[in-house]
Amino acid sequence: MPKTNASQQNKDERQLILIVEDEFVSREILKMSIEREYDVLLAENGKQALEHIGASGDQLSLILLDLNLPDMHGVDILNMINEKEEIHRIPVIVLTADKEAEVECLDIGAADFIPKPYPDIKIIQARIRHTIELFEKRVIIGQTEFDELTGLYNREFFYLYAERSDAHNRENLMDAIVIDINHFHMINERYGRDFSDEVLKRIGNRLRDLTSETGGLACRRDADQFMLYCPHLDDYEKVLGMLSEGISGEGNAENTVRLRMGVYPEADKSIDIERRFDRAKLAADSVKSNYTMPIGEYDNELNEKNLYREQLIVDFPEALEQEQFKVYYQPKFDIRGEKPVLCSAEALVRWIHPEYGFINPGAFISTFESSGLINRLDNYVWRAAAKQIREWSDRLGAVVPVSVSVNVSRVDLFDPDICNTLKGIVEEYGISQEQILLEITESAYSEDSKHIIDTVHRLRSEGFRVEMDDFGTGYSSLNMLTSLPIDALKLDMQFIRTAFTEGGDTGMIAIVIEIAEMLGVPVIAEGVETEEQLNALKEMGCDIAQGYYFSKPVPAEEFEKFLADR
Ligand code: C2E
Ligand code: CA
Repeated sequence: MPKTNASQQNKDERQLILIVEDEFVSREILKMSIEREYDVLLAENGKQALEHIGASGDQLSLILLDLNLPDMHGVDILNMINEKEEIHRIPVIVLTADKEAEVECLDIGAADFIPKPYPDIKIIQARIRHTIELFEKRVIIGQTEFDELTGLYNREFFYLYAERSDAHNRENLMDAIVIDINHFHMINERYGRDFSDEVLKRIGNRLRDLTSETGGLACRRDADQFMLYCPHLDDYEKVLGMLSEGISGEGNAENTVRLRMGVYPEADKSIDIERRFDRAKLAADSVKSNYTMPIGEYDNELNEKNLYREQLIVDFPEALEQEQFKVYYQPKFDIRGEKPVLCSAEALVRWIHPEYGFINPGAFISTFESSGLINRLDNYVWRAAAKQIREWSDRLGAVVPVSVSVNVSRVDLFDPDICNTLKGIVEEYGISQEQILLEITESAYSEDSKHIIDTVHRLRSEGFRVEMDDFGTGYSSLNMLTSLPIDALKLDMQFIRTAFTEGGDTGMIAIVIEIAEMLGVPVIAEGVETEEQLNALKEMGCDIAQGYYFSKPVPAEEFEKFLADR
């Protein structure tokens, strides 16, 4: 009975493995290690190997390939397998004593190595089993190890191969590097998908050139992020320069694409490979809004920051209990008329820590998001804001109602009870839905858009108004925006920073305002610090402004002066 394709094999059908090995003893050791579990074909040289592959290629689950064959080099066989459409799915484990060749083989697509002299039989069996499973799974889910657009490895396989290369080169000092494109989604929106794809491909090609020069591996981690695992480099600026040079091509997009890089140099191999790249990513994020210094390095300082964050997590429950969190309010002004008019406030949390003193939310929000504490903190802040509105209404009477916007983390949106929670708070303090505006960061929409959009729909049908926060930092497509349930767009502060520094232009702001007009919603600009900025924004058609020009976020008592002025 002919066998089915190896990838769809029945569980009880034995898988077929080809051993290509010219030394008799080695061949027998391998055969004996696996023949209880697998059917085995044997080849003593390249010619026999090719004959077997030709006759039984569609049934093979794995090839064990010695690199030094009497009549040809194993690498040529590997190349041939990779190039042939019908058989390139067959994983190959290379057998070699030559460390240099191991790396070369990884580069051209070997799935794993078994070093010579052979390790314990159990290790051989485990590697074989693991490789077969991995490749079968891959075929089933139609996944390839490469990113289609750039041809670099995808994340999963990149990690896998990086680990394997470590296992074989324990002594090499390696750098873990993350490369990010600043504001990629906006570039995508403005210059279109083809242009963006072209940029990604260019980066892919350059990374490939780099790894073929220095050794190592590269992958596309996410839409606009790349990872590089390579022997320790000493000039990162040169590398970033090489990657960035002319990356935007010519024409009107010239110089718009800016890369930033996070480096974890001589990464500690005792740490999980993914954690090592988390550190590199942390370093890349540490220079996120720093246009003059696009390279961040993971070092002791960042490490200490990490430890600090962990301490904050430990301290959180007690802090909540002891009311160490204080809500500050920053006014928002309607700037459409002649004189700016107070229209609402944003509630922003601060932590008065008994040991560290005053802590800004930038230091803990993302930590609390990733550790799952944010729900409890946000609940606390929403409650405090509602209570404050009630208190102002009772005490100041006619000057209110004022509305207060609160931040809703993307994590909160996964809480199935969020609608009830917010409704409960509004009812408890006897205020109205319109008095609580919800600021939801744009990136939340693009993460699990269907779920989030549904939740936002529900919130709006309950009467809450929703502002899209940090607009310009997420990945919303124009298409998606038109179907989004929102009441206002809040421009990310970074645009104002970039527009009003030397050499900057207000083009991006104009685009956002255009988008808002198309959606028929007002635009809020945050981070307005100077009169010049205010006037420029006004002229461009921005509706509401918030920023140090008017006031920093202040405690509730201090905010009352704005209420009184109104
Ligand atoms: P955001 O929502 O974008 O808030 C605006 C941030 O910009 C605030 O920083 C505010 O103090 C600051 N800011 C306002 N005007 C200016 C200005 O003119 N110049 C400059 N340089 N900065 C200005 P803050 O209070 O440190 O908050 C940082 C972020 O933390 C907020 O960004 C928000 O995403 C998050 N956050 C704050 N409070 C909460 C909260 O209660 N819950 C959640 N989930 N996130 C919060
Ligand atoms: Ca906000």
